[in-house]
Amino acid sequence: MNALVPEESSVAIVGGGPAGLIAAERLAEAGCKVSVYDRMPSLGRKFLMAGRGGLNLTHAEPLRDFLRRYEPVSPQLLAAVQAYPPDALRSWCEGLGHMTFAGSSGRVFPREMKASPLLRSWLRRLGALGVAFHPRHDLVRIDANRALTFETPGGEISVQPDAVLLALGGGSWPRLGADGGWQAMLAQHDIGIARLHPANAGIRIDWTAYFRERQAGQPLKRMQVRIDNHEALGEAVITENGLEGGAIYALFRPIREAIGKNGEARLVLDLRPDFRPEFIASRFAATNRKESFSSRLRKAAGLQPPAVALVTEAMMLAGKLVPKDDPAALAAFVKALPLRVTGTAGLDRAISTAGGIRFDVLDENFMLTALPGVFAAGEMLDWEAPTGGYLLQASFATGVAAAKGMIQFLNRKP
Ligand SMILES: Cc1cc2nc3c(=O)[nH]c(=O)nc-3n(C[C@H](O)[C@H](O)[C@H](O)COP(=O)(O)OP(=O)(O)OC[C@H]3O[C@@H](n4cnc5c(N)ncnc54)[C@H](O)[C@@H]3O)c2cc1C
Repeated sequence: MNALVPEESSVAIVGGGPAGLIAAERLAEAGCKVSVYDRMPSLGRKFLMAGRGGLNLTHAEPLRDFLRRYEPVSPQLLAAVQAYPPDALRSWCEGLGHMTFAGSSGRVFPREMKASPLLRSWLRRLGALGVAFHPRHDLVRIDANRALTFETPGGEISVQPDAVLLALGGGSWPRLGADGGWQAMLAQHDIGIARLHPANAGIRIDWTAYFRERQAGQPLKRMQVRIDNHEALGEAVITENGLEGGAIYALFRPIREAIGKNGEARLVLDLRPDFRPEFIASRFAATNRKESFSSRLRKAAGLQPPAVALVTEAMMLAGKLVPKDDPAALAAFVKALPLRVTGTAGLDRAISTAGGIRFDVLDENFMLTALPGVFAAGEMLDWEAPTGGYLLQASFATGVAAAKGMIQFLNRKP
C-alpha cells in the first residue's frame, strides 16, 4: 500500500463507534499509525444495540429524498453524505462479506439483521490493518497542543498524536458509553455546542388509567400523524405514558419544539389515511345498530382493536363524545383524532441526540478551528434525523469526511 501521509504519522481516534471506526479504517489504509481509544471495555456498544431490533444501516430512497431527512441541513453534513452516500455504505458492508437488502419500506439491513457479525468482521479488518485498540481509556482532558489525557485502570496516561478525531457520540443511552460528558471538556476551549436534546424518543400523553392498563404495548398500524404543517405516515406503539415508534420519531423535532415553546404539542392522527371520510361514514351507517359501538367502528373503518380503543380514549380526553348516530362526525374524528402531548422521554431513553458541536466551529474538513489538528465526527455534531438508517449513514459519512480532512492536515506544508 502506498502511504498517503508522511511516514510515521500517528493519529488518535477517541470513540470506537461507527464514526470513529470508519475513520480508523480510512486512516490506516492511508498509512497512518492509528490508535482507537474508548472508555468502555469493548467497542461499538451502541452499534450492537442498534442491531438488536434489526440493524437499519441506511435507506434505499432516492438521494434527494434521503438528504431531506436531515433538514435543516448544514452544507458540511450535506457534502459528507453526498460524498459517502447510502450505496457507498452498502458496498462497504458487502465488502466485509455481509450482503444487504432493502425491506419493503426501503430501509436497508445486512442480511443477518444483527450488528454483531458485521462488527466482528470489521474489527478483524481493522486489526489486520494494524489499528491498535485501547479500551477502558476515558478521555478526561484535551489540550490546545493535541495532548490527550485518559483515565485508565492503570492510572492517567497522556499521548500527543499528530492528529486527533473526537467521535464521542451524543448523550442518549449513556450506559452504552456516550453520555455527552465531552461538553464540559470542549467548553474549556470555547467551542460552540448546541444544547443536547433527545431525538427519536417516546412522547407523553396523559392516558386514562383504564386505557393505559389495557392498551400499553399494543401497536397502532399504518396511520398519518400531523403537527402544524408537518406530517408523517407510519406505525407507533402505545406505551404506559404515551406513544413511541417510527411515525412519532419522524415528527419528533416539531413535537419537541412545540413543547419547548407552548409547554405542549397538539398532534392529529388519521387512523385510516387510505379511506375517505365519506367511505367510512357510509360504511358506519350501514352497520347494525344493535351491535356495540366498538364493533361497528371496527367494521366501518377496518380498525384493529387498539385503534378502536384509541378513538374512545381520544373522545374522552378531548371531552368530546361524538354522537354515535352521526356517521359523518365519527368518520371526521377517525380521520383527525386530536391528542395533547405533554412532554417527551429524556435523553437516557432516546434513540439519538439532537444538538452537539455546531458546524460553524468546524472548518469544511471537520476540524475544530479552535483546536488545530483536532477533528470531530458522528452523533456529537449538531444534526438530527429520524430513524430509518439516517443516523448511521450520517455517522459513517462524517467519519469518512473527517478522515479525509485529517489526511489533508497531516500532509500540510509546515
Ligand atoms: C436502541 C438504539 C437503536 C438504534 N438503531 C439504529 C438503527 O437501526 N439505525 C441507525 O441509523 N441508527 C440507530 N441508532 C443510532 C446509532 O446507533 C447512533 O447514531 C450511532 O451509533 C452514532 O455513532 P457514533 O460513532 O457517532 O457514536 P457512538 O456509537 O455513540 O460511539 C461513541 C463512542 O465514544 C465513546 N466515548 C464517549 N465518551 C468518551 C470518553 N470521554 N472517552 C473515551 N471514549 C468515549 C463511547 O464509549 C462510544 O463507544 C440506534 C441507537 C439506539 C440507542
